[in-house]
Amino acid sequence: MSRDIEIIGDGCAALSFAARASEINGNVTLIRPSNAPAAKDHVWGFWSDPILHQTENIPKSTWKKWAIITDNDRVVLESENKSYNAFKRSDWTKHCENLAKMANVKFINESDWERSADSTVFDTRPPIIPNGCVLQHFHGIEISTTEKKFDPNVAILMDFRVDQSKGLHFIYLLPYSETEALIESTIFSTNVVEKQYYLDNIKSYLESNYQIDEYFTTHQESGVIPLGKLALHDPNIPGLGTNGGATRPASGYTFLFIQRQIEAAIKSANNGDGIRFKNPHKRIDLWMDSILLTVLKHWPEYGPNIFLRMGKALSGEQFVNFLSGDASWWLRLRVIFAMPKWPFIKALTKNILPSRKSSNAVVA
Ligand SMILES: Cc1cc2nc3c(=O)[nH]c(=O)nc-3n(C[C@H](O)[C@H](O)[C@H](O)COP(=O)(O)OP(=O)(O)OC[C@H]3O[C@@H](n4cnc5c(N)ncnc54)[C@H](O)[C@@H]3O)c2cc1C
Repeated sequence: MSRDIEIIGDGCAALSFAARASEINGNVTLIRPSNAPAAKDHVWGFWSDPILHQTENIPKSTWKKWAIITDNDRVVLESENKSYNAFKRSDWTKHCENLAKMANVKFINESDWERSADSTVFDTRPPIIPNGCVLQHFHGIEISTTEKKFDPNVAILMDFRVDQSKGLHFIYLLPYSETEALIESTIFSTNVVEKQYYLDNIKSYLESNYQIDEYFTTHQESGVIPLGKLALHDPNIPGLGTNGGATRPASGYTFLFIQRQIEAAIKSANNGDGIRFKNPHKRIDLWMDSILLTVLKHWPEYGPNIFLRMGKALSGEQFVNFLSGDASWWLRLRVIFAMPKWPFIKALTKNILPSRKSSNAVVA
């Protein structure tokens, strides 16, 4: 049976689905939302996964080693098969748009849209952010230096040697070459900060740790990713992408999970079960993330040690499996045993016995 599928939005999830429209029996239309802010380019970082074979031809940078660094210690993880990759948002969305056009996907503006009774509609507009929600907020710059300063073999996932007064704060540094890198100042907290704060921290980080006093900024990007369980943009329209629960609640990683959500929906449609975009995370992972998020929200000072310990307890491949939602029970236990116990006991107590003030239990 053929059906009409209408997706509100033209961002990552909508375009990633539209790119695969030829795999389902139905007409797909993308509706560009009114009042949406202009899309800005940024870098998507993601771990290799067999499901991402569609990304093979997109120009990307790849690292087989990545580091987590604190004031007193560091760990470098490595994986031959599960590398960390980064490509530009615009490269991926252009690729998807081309495939979508070849599959006769229609693109219309919301103002021209008339919902038909025969269509199934999904919404990718942003979910509602509740008060007190933990936000992963960041500003990053791509720079070039005249001297060779970076090690292009090791991506810095988290370097906590920055001011910790505004929440859990780290530098994410992707070295594209010895003289070029993306450097992002990233904070987990309930309030965003002034752009200048991120820029000042990047500047002093580069001075202290790379002896870089001068650099040329080639690109800037910023973002706010709400973490935790979020309500649908419109309670009457099922979601997809971030609006369909694709963001991993304690890490902000979303790209891989959007692709998994779409893969599962296409399979379900082709099995005759109708098209449905399910939450791509396992319940146990959502629960573990909710406890971690509670720790990071209320006791961010434990954050650096938590991530360092996780890195030290796992091999590179195990680390990627854990973050990608592919952990076995044994691996989850390994992570649990590696954690400092006291903050998690406090977080468990807080989650089991929510205070009256924070009656919205979904907000860490
Ligand atoms: C700057 C940035 C960097 C990121 N980096 C990574 C990363 O490295 N790795 C990773 O896994 N994830 C990352 N994410 C998270 C996630 O992958 C992206 O947010 C991704 O774009 C989510 O796809 P989506 O389709 O759900 O939302 P979007 O791509 O944001 O699409 C949302 C749709 O809703 C529309 N819209 C937006 N606001 C409104 C509004 N107010 N009213 C109506 N319509 C609206 C948009 O026009 C668009 O059509 C990042 C997010 C940001 C913001």
